[in-house]
Amino acid sequence: MTVSRFQVLEIYCYNTMKKIGLLGGMSWESSAHYYRLINEGVKRRLGGFHSAEIVMISIDFEPIEERQRMGDWGSAANILIKAAQSIEAGGADFLLICTNTMHKLAPEIEAAIEIPVLHIADATADALVAQGVACAGLLGTAFTMEQDFYKGRLLDKHGLEVLVPSKDDRKIVHEIIYQELCLGKTRRESKAQYLRVIEWLASEGAEAVILGCTEIGMLINQSDTEIRLLDTTVIHAEKAVEFAIA
Ligand code: GLU
Repeated sequence: MTVSRFQVLEIYCYNTMKKIGLLGGMSWESSAHYYRLINEGVKRRLGGFHSAEIVMISIDFEPIEERQRMGDWGSAANILIKAAQSIEAGGADFLLICTNTMHKLAPEIEAAIEIPVLHIADATADALVAQGVACAGLLGTAFTMEQDFYKGRLLDKHGLEVLVPSKDDRKIVHEIIYQELCLGKTRRESKAQYLRVIEWLASEGAEAVILGCTEIGMLINQSDTEIRLLDTTVIHAEKAVEFAIA
């Protein structure tokens, strides 16, 4: 029996494409983008009817948001660990935590599973380094902008300098995420606020601005500003595709 080159490629892809684990629902608005971006990425690379092999658990965000607000990270970790273990049991070869903020719990999640976690800050750092950026502004939730789990990783592991907005602007950026974007709302006034903060970060020396919350891409994109933007949802999803197909 002769096997065509096309069939060889088909067999090769079928055997080698890794199953992508997605821990989503934080919020589902951005998880929907992950799902689309990853499938589009696989189709772009492999063509035909190819699509990504995905094991996804989308959790209810309400109890997570409540625990974040209360500072009850321990019980939030329990919820995420249980979901990550189910994703692993479902056959995923690696895991994406589809939110920047909950990477605060990445060490606990990593310790509870065998498969690797593709860290969103590492994927973002790779993109920054590839573009020659040494100093970046960071927009995200107050947890992401103020705590060390994200900024610290960019600095300590990747040597990148990170600037964050002023205290008042961090509050504005944070509230727009939880009161609007995670609920699927986008307002022109909020977009103007984000663009103002982005310009301020650039005026302080940021060579690019990280959209370090997976919903921000719903509000602004590169066509809105001359300042270079790095959308972590797009970067993370693309990294997953590369890793799955590599
Ligand atoms: N998706 C968001 C992020 O990337 C915020 C929602 C959450 O708290 O997980 O940080």
